[in-house]
Amino acid sequence: MAALNPFAIAQQQLDEAAERLGLDRATHELLRWPMREYHFTLPIKMDNGRTSIFKGYRVQYNNARGPTKGGLRWHPEETIDTIRALAAWMTWKTALVDIPLGGGKGGITCNPKELSEAEKERLARAYIRAIWRELGVDRDVPAPDVYTTPQIMAWMMDEYETIVGHSHPGVITGKPLPIGGSPGRTDATARGGVYCVREAAKALNLDLSNATYVIQGFGNAGQFAATLHREILGGGTLLAVSDSRGGAINRKGINPADMVQHKLETGTVTGFPGTELISNEDLLELKCDVLYPAALEAVITDRNAQNINARIVCELANGPTTPEADKILQDKGVYVLPDFLANAGGVTVSYFEQVQNTYNYYWSLEEVHRQLDLKMSRAFHDVHEMSQKLKTHNRLAAYMLAVTRVAEACKLRGWV
Ligand code: GLU
Repeated sequence: MAALNPFAIAQQQLDEAAERLGLDRATHELLRWPMREYHFTLPIKMDNGRTSIFKGYRVQYNNARGPTKGGLRWHPEETIDTIRALAAWMTWKTALVDIPLGGGKGGITCNPKELSEAEKERLARAYIRAIWRELGVDRDVPAPDVYTTPQIMAWMMDEYETIVGHSHPGVITGKPLPIGGSPGRTDATARGGVYCVREAAKALNLDLSNATYVIQGFGNAGQFAATLHREILGGGTLLAVSDSRGGAINRKGINPADMVQHKLETGTVTGFPGTELISNEDLLELKCDVLYPAALEAVITDRNAQNINARIVCELANGPTTPEADKILQDKGVYVLPDFLANAGGVTVSYFEQVQNTYNYYWSLEEVHRQLDLKMSRAFHDVHEMSQKLKTHNRLAAYMLAVTRVAEACKLRGWV
């Protein structure tokens, strides 16, 4: 993450789309930058009685299509530039699945693995005390992302409601079910990604019912992808999975549900019975039908793109592939489902959650799945058709669709 600035990558991707679209200079310049950003310094009393100082951020990238929306990351390497990039990608993501929201992202530079539950709660509440004036269903709505959980969303909602003095569950999404969460939110990111793989198989005329698949990163998205891949595609062999501590491989196949259980019990995927160790780097290069990068940015670069041996790459992570790698994958004929399409299921069900909170009536799980499937399938086919028409890779096609929609909203408002 240190060598490649993700925000420079996000701007470079936009530049390419703007050029292909012939976007006017003012709109292009407007879309290259966050419209608003906040930086906080948060003093937190630690359990040992000392005070630690944390840096926090919230970027409201663009709200032309509606209130800004996007998750909160708690990661030791978080910087304002990772957050800016992620907020830009949220802007394209909400436009691509065509929900009436803009894009935002926030984060705290911290290592949640070293924080106690009580310290996490104090940090979550302090963050809300810093930003609450700028939040709300009609302003900006955070959600979970890397290393943030439904419990953290619950503390944040509680702090917000305590400050404003009334119920406002839609201020944050990804909440636990008993306090206004939506059915189907926890597995929505992975489910949306697998729906895209299913649609891609139809479009490419591939039979994926016996496909091999590999998952890099075993947090929320990776874990659910492991089980949902088989459930939605009607079969498949999970060859290998990895997390920040390393990878585990078994060429005869890994039982996804047992692996999830092992991860929950031991905190890592390594050491799962019947598997051998494999590094994250080697895992990405395994021959397989579907590769799911589900961790952090910039793991497929010009250094390893030539060695990617997957038929389909489904980007559940945000920003896993650099622009140089995109070109190499396209030349190799690897079919990439770009991040802001493949992982849009999370924010789509977040939007459903916000809608349910606002009219205080809750949908069934089946209804959430049905609506999610409609949104994801529609977005997939829009991107696929556009890329066929323009003979370009899916990411550029997705950018062109999303940027056109955001630019149109900016124009209609009279901003440009
Ligand atoms: N953090 C997720 C994402 O990157 C979800 C955002 C949301 O639900 O608002 O799309």
